[in-house]
Amino acid sequence: MLKQIDLVLSPFDAQKTDNYTEYASKILKISKNRISYIKLVKHSIDARQRDIKVQLRFVVVIDEPNYKPEKIIFDPKNITNSKEVAIIGAGPAGLFAALRLIELGLKPIIFERGQDVLQRKRDIATMYKNNKININSNYCYGEGGAGTFSDGKLYTRSSKRGNVNRILELFYLHGANENILYEAHPHIGSDKLPKVIENIRNRIIEAGGIFHFNTQVVDIIIVKGKIKGLKLSNGSIFKTTNLVLSSGHSAKDVYKMLASKNILLESKDFAMGVRIENPQEIINKIQYHNYPKIELLPAATYNIIQQVNGKGVYSFCMCPGGVIVPASTSENEIVVNGMSASKRNSGFANSGFVCEIKNEDLTEFKKFGVFAGLEFQSHLEQLAFNNGGGGLMAPAQRILDFIQKKKSSDLPISSYISGTHSSEMHNWLPKFMSENISKALQIYGQREKDFINENAIMIGVESRTSSPIRIPRNRETFEHVEIKGLYPCGEGAGYAGGIVSSAIDGMNVAQSIAKTKINNRCNA
Ligand SMILES: Cc1cc2nc3c(=O)[nH]c(=O)nc-3n(C[C@H](O)[C@H](O)[C@H](O)COP(=O)(O)OP(=O)(O)OC[C@H]3O[C@@H](n4cnc5c(N)ncnc54)[C@H](O)[C@@H]3O)c2cc1C
Repeated sequence: MLKQIDLVLSPFDAQKTDNYTEYASKILKISKNRISYIKLVKHSIDARQRDIKVQLRFVVVIDEPNYKPEKIIFDPKNITNSKEVAIIGAGPAGLFAALRLIELGLKPIIFERGQDVLQRKRDIATMYKNNKININSNYCYGEGGAGTFSDGKLYTRSSKRGNVNRILELFYLHGANENILYEAHPHIGSDKLPKVIENIRNRIIEAGGIFHFNTQVVDIIIVKGKIKGLKLSNGSIFKTTNLVLSSGHSAKDVYKMLASKNILLESKDFAMGVRIENPQEIINKIQYHNYPKIELLPAATYNIIQQVNGKGVYSFCMCPGGVIVPASTSENEIVVNGMSASKRNSGFANSGFVCEIKNEDLTEFKKFGVFAGLEFQSHLEQLAFNNGGGGLMAPAQRILDFIQKKKSSDLPISSYISGTHSSEMHNWLPKFMSENISKALQIYGQREKDFINENAIMIGVESRTSSPIRIPRNRETFEHVEIKGLYPCGEGAGYAGGIVSSAIDGMNVAQSIAKTKINNRCNA
């Protein structure tokens, strides 16, 4: 007999995992010996009240001594000689498309402009040493995509789009900690993600898939409205009739290349702002109400949403115990983002703090048509560079000073290791952004008095929250609305945001391609 039970425990009792069977037997009012199997399937912290509780959900099997839990499996076919599908980009969308393709009997050929994950780590170390961005191997480009050196948060609001659990299972099968399968807010951490990504790559190669790193796709070949091939940075041409375009939203050159071929693109709303950072201790105090046994709880998170002047202003991609990183992809621009290690123990808490941006906010950029948002984004990234301290040194201001519109005479210590440069950010951020961000911070600061403290800092700019462009596709087949064989996919296509939703999109696109192939075979 299988039962599901919920337990609410103190953080102290919840850490005693050896006692779970006993707790369950008490709830079920049966002897411990009758419990054949128990599995934690949900774990969350309820910190709404001072009396913090841990909520646990278990699946319990009773009176079935021979019970064997179902194994999570991934069983790819050998696809060495199968029909090929080209994929641009080895980010979550591209990699999970490849995993699904090999399950469905198709052969992925992946082109990635950046390096494999090991070389990418070295390139990032060199970037810090030289204080200079490597334009093809950085925090956005390279194996694993933008999510590799991240917080590795694996939750998404878009669960309707696909099977979130399957994505978590695949991460787990490739080396992520089992707790991602039951945590309410699972995360992997940038110290663990590179190995997981490497395992995924090895799995794809073992099945017969092929990776080409350090290989940028510079053009796509279209004949009579159909994909025919790719032009690569090494000068060669790769022939293909099926192309998963999962190049992410930092690859502005890809959008420009598509537009130069008159491929239909659409503009969409997006968001930009700054990264804010606080000592983690302050966030723990606020969120956990000065809980005395803080060591029993994970680094606290927050989620701020305010409506200001009819616009959403919100925290984004919060990284508890994390660090702020330079996530630019070109010289002379500053883009910041956040990542954290699995233990989330840096002592800092950072988060994007961004303002919704609609087409009507971009009157000065209207002349760029569909690229208005993209040009505005670049403009802001260049402004951040011009107001920084040179190289990767980012412009920054104490939040207290930003609200009072005064220059910070000095800056608090921050996790951003390339250095911060005092800048009057209210002077160069567009007025509507600066005012909305300031107002939202003030409203939140009134509610949580400690949040805006003398160590709270903002660093600019957080500009790559989501794509300002969508590459329109058919809702059912995922194929581009005009070009046969072109499958826009993931965040860059404007259909996902974050690791999990991009991975789901990759799997959905792979499935659609496989379905088309099977139908074609039947009709042949
Ligand atoms: C520092 C950082 C931290 C983040 N933290 C989180 C987090 O904790 N949780 C979360 O859900 N999301 C996070 N994100 C966002 C998340 O990483 C993205 O939403 C996700 O990676 C998008 O997946 P994708 O596959 O669509 O695109 P990407 O991950 O951007 O991958 C696109 C890939 O395509 C390659 N490419 C681009 N152009 C070409 C070309 N012409 N030829 C060949 N290859 C090309 C790029 O090099 C890149 O590897 C973070 C992002 C960053 C930068």
